[in-house]
Amino acid sequence: MIRVGHGFDAHRLAGGRKLILGGVVIPYEKGSLGHSDGDVLAHALADALLGAASLGDLGSYFPESDPQWRDADSMVLLRTCAGKVGEAGFAIGNVDATVVVQQPRLGPHLESMRRSIASALAVTDERVSIKAKSSDGMGYTGDGTGIAAYAVALIERI
Ligand code: MG
Repeated sequence: MIRVGHGFDAHRLAGGRKLILGGVVIPYEKGSLGHSDGDVLAHALADALLGAASLGDLGSYFPESDPQWRDADSMVLLRTCAGKVGEAGFAIGNVDATVVVQQPRLGPHLESMRRSIASALAVTDERVSIKAKSSDGMGYTGDGTGIAAYAVALIERI
C-alpha cells in the first residue's frame, strides 16, 4: 500500500529573527516569526508525513500553547514525526516541497536543505526534493510580509 500526504505552512517575516529553512540558517535581514524556530519547510514536511499516515498534524504533538516547544529546533520535531510514521509501519518513499518567498533567493541553499532534511528523515538524498519559487511580487510571500512552504510525501506500508 502506498499513501500520499500534503502539508502547508506559513509564517510572518520580521527583523531580529533567524531565517531557518530545513534546518539551514539562511543569511537575511529578516527571519520567520513562530513559537518554535519558525522553520516553515520543516513544518510543511512534518504535516505531509503525518498526513500520509493519518497521524494528525504537527500541532497535535507539539502544541503552540505548550511553553516546552518555545524556540524549539523544528528539525527535531520533523525527525520525531518521521519516527512516528516509521513506528506506524511505513517507510518514506519520497518527499517534495516548495518554499515560496520573494527574497532572499534560495537557490544557493537548496542542496544544503535537501541534505539536512534527508538526514532528519533518515533517507537518502535522492528521496528528497526541495524547490523555491517567488510569487512574482504578489501577496504576502511577494511583498516581504511572510514565507510559505508546501510539501507532499509518499509513504509505503513496510
Ligand atoms: Mg509553522
